[in-house]
Amino acid sequence: MDKFDFLFGENFTCYNCDDEILEGEYLCKDCYSKINFIAHACKRCGEQVNEYSSYCDKCKERKNFCFEKCISVANLQGVARSLVYKLKFGGKRYIAYLFAHFIWEKLRQEKIDIDYLCYVPVSLKRLKERGYNQAREIALHLSKISNIPVKENLFLKIKDTADQTTLTREDRFKNMSGAFFALEDKDIKGKTIAIIDDVITTTATVSELSKLLKRRGAGKVYALSFCHG
Ligand SMILES: [Zn+2]
Ligand SMILES: [Zn+2]
Repeated sequence: MDKFDFLFGENFTCYNCDDEILEGEYLCKDCYSKINFIAHACKRCGEQVNEYSSYCDKCKERKNFCFEKCISVANLQGVARSLVYKLKFGGKRYIAYLFAHFIWEKLRQEKIDIDYLCYVPVSLKRLKERGYNQAREIALHLSKISNIPVKENLFLKIKDTADQTTLTREDRFKNMSGAFFALEDKDIKGKTIAIIDDVITTTATVSELSKLLKRRGAGKVYALSFCHG
């Protein structure tokens, strides 16, 4: 230990690049400026659209949505993408705290009241590999910040699904069909539920989970994530 450490206390470093930052900050200015925040989103899936459109082309065509709306903070690019990878594959569990803050800010802007949070489950195999479920980590932090309770173990993952990134959009929906099971929970009847994930891509996963929640009596279902892409 450096003899001056006691004078300066703990060092605060950027969650992305490890540069020194001030106490109370999480990202350095440079990394923060490289997050591509979604300013104008599709009112259904949360994908960035131009300011004259309310919906993206895919949502304009699609009917019968199981969820009300997906809300994401940033596009899956640059520093946002790097943070997602560090949380998911780099063991940097604390990044979930940062994501929860950003999601909470967004949720307040949207003025949506949520009764319960839940999260996208992972298979036991993935859980063993990573040591944690990143979606659950975000949900737990979000719950602490917002005081919205988390429903633990609302879902079971019953099918080991193929890696979504290798599949086409259509196949992603098929891949997720029957992948989960929702346990009965009387509390959720008529309530507004938010499903938390780190990244929302095609909405295949959240569509499937929303369907199960509604079958179990949930009123409205939203999906919240840090990234869309
Ligand atoms: Zn940085
Ligand atoms: Zn859309």
